[in-house]
Amino acid sequence: MFVTLTAPSFGRVHTLGRDGTCRPRSSRPVCEHGMAAYCNARHSSDDKRLGNALCVECYDCTGHVLWHTAAPELWRRFTIELLRSFSRLSLERTGVHRTVRALREELRASYVKVAEWQRRGAVHFHAVVRLDGIDPDDPETVTAPPAWVDADLLAACVRDAASRVRVALPVPDGVERIARWGGQIDVRPITDPRRTAAYVAKYATKTASDVLPGLPVRRFDTFALDRMRKRGTSWHLLMLAGTCLRLADAEGCEDLRLAERVHTLGFPGHFATKSRRYSVTLGALRAVRRAWRAAQRTGDVWGQDGAVVVGDWRLVGVGHAKPGDALLAEQLAREEAVYREAVKYHDVVQVRVVDDGEAAGVAA
Ligand SMILES: [Zn+2]
Ligand SMILES: [Zn+2]
Repeated sequence: MFVTLTAPSFGRVHTLGRDGTCRPRSSRPVCEHGMAAYCNARHSSDDKRLGNALCVECYDCTGHVLWHTAAPELWRRFTIELLRSFSRLSLERTGVHRTVRALREELRASYVKVAEWQRRGAVHFHAVVRLDGIDPDDPETVTAPPAWVDADLLAACVRDAASRVRVALPVPDGVERIARWGGQIDVRPITDPRRTAAYVAKYATKTASDVLPGLPVRRFDTFALDRMRKRGTSWHLLMLAGTCLRLADAEGCEDLRLAERVHTLGFPGHFATKSRRYSVTLGALRAVRRAWRAAQRTGDVWGQDGAVVVGDWRLVGVGHAKPGDALLAEQLAREEAVYREAVKYHDVVQVRVVDDGEAAGVAA
């Protein structure tokens, strides 16, 4: 099955709309902050307003960021709940009660999932969920699931499990929130494996900054907010990035490491994950890719100790190719100088530039 699980709504945002109109309302209602709670525009697909909140006050930025922090746990609980759903629904459909423990010896669910960034700055997940049987005499072989299981039942169980899971969120602002999946749970059988594979691969190589203009690729410091503003990042994303920084030390949020995850708006997961048994490991793929790249560059370059030998260095020039690059470099240097001064006098400011090996590896 190809499954899409989304984040719930955190407030009205500009969208392409089902019939092309964003959020049509002839009564032209306004929210309590005096902002239009409707939008009669027909946005083009490159309209900068798309994904932005209709009212930044109404939009639950805190709920959005906190949901991101819980998304991987929500997914984990979904994968556990799946067998419970099989237990429940198989009783309904076949009249036979099968316990989760018994099912674990009969069924093996595996998955590969990728995170996709929506324009409103929320991740949603696309996953291939696959069900196999287990041969008790040879658990390593791939075998068909038992006859009482079919694609319809798997689809029903995915929907059932996804609609049930919940994660309680911290309460930094006195509002109790429960993370759950959004109502748009899409489950469809895979009829064209090549197309599905291409789709999954496409999202496995995208980062938040590819989809959300102005969002930094890496972990960043408080000064990056200024840089984002100068680059014309939308208010919507700035609010969410600011919310990460604001919540970083808030009560109950201390362990969420939000200050390190501003570039993913609080989302701590990897862009692509899979269950251990799904296929070869990502580590093995990375090793093959590294070797292939190296071989492409210079023939067989791997020495006994695995070091890359670079054959030739050549000076191609000094300075900047375009005047704009020089200006940009100068501006960045000034910002860095200001930043270094700030660090010198306020050692409370911390920067950590950490290479996110897993995500970078997947993206490569
Ligand atoms: Zn609109
Ligand atoms: Zn409002």
